Amino acid sequence: MPLPPLVEPATELTIDEVRRYSRHLIIPDVGMTGQKRLKNAKVLVVGAGGLGSPALLYLAAAGVGTLGVIDFDVVDESNLQRQIIHGQSDVGRPKALSARDSIKEVNPYVTVVVHEEALTNDNVLEIFSGYDLIVDGTDNFATRYLVNDACVLLGKPYVWGSIYRFDGQASVFWADYGPCYRCLYPEPPPPGMVPSCAEGGVLGVLCASIGSIQVTEAIKLLTGTGEPLAGRLMIYDALEMNYRTLNIKKDPNCAICGENPTITELIDYDAFCGAVSADAQEAISGSTITALELKDMLDRQDNIFLVDVREPNEYEIVSIPGAVLIPKDEFLTGAALEKLPQDKRIVLHCKSGVRSAECLAVVKNAGFSDAVHVGGGIVSWVNNVDPSLPSY
Ligand code: ZN
Repeated sequence: MPLPPLVEPATELTIDEVRRYSRHLIIPDVGMTGQKRLKNAKVLVVGAGGLGSPALLYLAAAGVGTLGVIDFDVVDESNLQRQIIHGQSDVGRPKALSARDSIKEVNPYVTVVVHEEALTNDNVLEIFSGYDLIVDGTDNFATRYLVNDACVLLGKPYVWGSIYRFDGQASVFWADYGPCYRCLYPEPPPPGMVPSCAEGGVLGVLCASIGSIQVTEAIKLLTGTGEPLAGRLMIYDALEMNYRTLNIKKDPNCAICGENPTITELIDYDAFCGAVSADAQEAISGSTITALELKDMLDRQDNIFLVDVREPNEYEIVSIPGAVLIPKDEFLTGAALEKLPQDKRIVLHCKSGVRSAECLAVVKNAGFSDAVHVGGGIVSWVNNVDPSLPSY
């Protein structure tokens, strides 16, 4: 079902704009009116990272008049493999400012609004209310539910994308015309079950495949062109090289857009999604050490058995001297337990402290009551103990 254009046309394009956008203007479906709608449009991109990079660049090039960028992070070297809006000289700079500079270089006629802050319950409604449409480039569940709920409450379309290794997904959630994100995913996955791109990796170019779908959908919605992805889920498999779409329906029992919504205002999204599972939360309480404390233990030659629960390819990139590799899955199946010595204190670590927390719950349940894990994982070790090591 084609939807009405989201934005009224601007009164006119300047001569320079006509020249710049001529390849759009000669497409009958876009034309002068469509381009004027883009000029009048206000689009917010949440996150100037993997998906946000191509999304912002193409939205800018397409002539979206006002582009908002919200990001509180700074550019890290490990971002540059996929976050193409940033360059080598931007390392260490705030992503929002780096993104603004790149957008200005691509298209000086775009007004860029920088929100150099985290998206929170306190600011989301005010920020979103200034835009016609939200493009989501985040990769954590708490933010996705926050973005979804704010969009439903404000009646805004939410152009969503997600990426992991070789797999991508995209859709348009717009409760006024179809399902919302909660209709598709009523509950977040159990904490620790779905690895993030930081933990599992992502093929850099996958960001372009999915980010460009998001921009395509944004342009279609803004100009009222074609069949939007609302009510459909696009699934992309880069290894098989195929796209398929599944129809998704509005859930009449959806907690926020259903017939009897139980969510009528923003909720506590960190609690809803949980950083780690309840078991792991209990296990790490009082049993978390810092990277510096681990360094002291190793220097003192304490009687410890240090276990790295990451995957072999991560261990190859960087490891803590003396750590024994036993991947997390072996803890979940129980196979790891017989590899643990009974006469040493077990110390677990992973990349950031999420997987090791899950493993700690298993280890403690098996009777290793003095076992601990390293908060912040090897990332904290690199940052606080040995910055000469590579981070990833
Ligand atoms: Zn819903």
